[in-house]
Amino acid sequence: MGTPTRVVVTGGAGFIGGHLVERLLAEARRVVVVDNLVTGRRGNLSDDDKLTFVEADISEADWLRHPALAVPVDRIYHLACPPSPVDFVRLPVEICRTCALGTLHAVELALEKGARLLDASTSEVYGDPLVHPQPEDYRGNVSVDGPRSCYDEGKRFGEALIAAHRRARGLDARVVRIFNTYGPRMRAGDGRVVPAFITQALAGEPLTVHGDGSQTRSFCYVDDLVSGIIAAMETDATGPFNLGNPDERTILELAQAIIELTGSSSALTYTALPKDDPRRRRPDITAARRELDWEPKVDLRDGLEQTIAWFRDQG
Ligand code: UDP
Repeated sequence: MGTPTRVVVTGGAGFIGGHLVERLLAEARRVVVVDNLVTGRRGNLSDDDKLTFVEADISEADWLRHPALAVPVDRIYHLACPPSPVDFVRLPVEICRTCALGTLHAVELALEKGARLLDASTSEVYGDPLVHPQPEDYRGNVSVDGPRSCYDEGKRFGEALIAAHRRARGLDARVVRIFNTYGPRMRAGDGRVVPAFITQALAGEPLTVHGDGSQTRSFCYVDDLVSGIIAAMETDATGPFNLGNPDERTILELAQAIIELTGSSSALTYTALPKDDPRRRRPDITAARRELDWEPKVDLRDGLEQTIAWFRDQG
């Protein structure tokens, strides 16, 4: 297939979606973004003649008949879903519906258009992992009915749905499992640790460390992630591919780095560890390195500096 030129991005007004769309617009002939703005923002998208914005909930089938989609489509990036643990508590039914019905609709659009689909799955498919770091063939340790299960099991079901349609209906699909990602345009109130700590540090408020802060995450800068997503879409290999930065840190280390980089005098305050909060998380990216020739390039401190500068500008 030649250069893909007609693209649909579900969740294109979200944090990662907005960065992806910006990159795609440089190459694509047309990009249609479908987003219900429940966590996305119109301001994450630039005004561009090549860009069409459709405000719709992908779990309702009517978006498939929207006039903006009555055109040929080569690629569908399926990113739509509220992503933060705070959203899992606030929007559990919406998240189940988006992961199940929304993904089914994205699959149906791909089959109808003969387009390739990329599903944005997640490191949450590994739950609170008993294997460390996590390779793609690790089957995970996920609670079926805990507070994160709408998202974790929803994304697992999304992968199953894609596998079934690939086997039975010839769906052309790629799956990426996205690990913790950060960068400019994260929502200040989104609840995730990087925007939470940066906004607290800039306001001189205490940084809210959950538990004792010894739990770990591995943080990938959004520009690196977008390169990985596009590489996964354009490869012949079907994945799934872990996409993330293997540079693993404790939450306490992250808090200290943000205090230092902001020059803040904020203290730390320790609060309860949320139920089912994974103890450790770090991607094994051997497959992405080998098959996609991809690995993250942005160092945590450099990425945090960019992110802090963006949050300062918002203030
Ligand atoms: N966390 C924290 N303080 C906050 C927000 C999050 O200590 O204000 C912790 C959270 O409990 C988890 C880690 O930071 O251990 C990453 O949380 P986040 O919500 O960013 O994403 P997760 O990886 O849990 O989906």
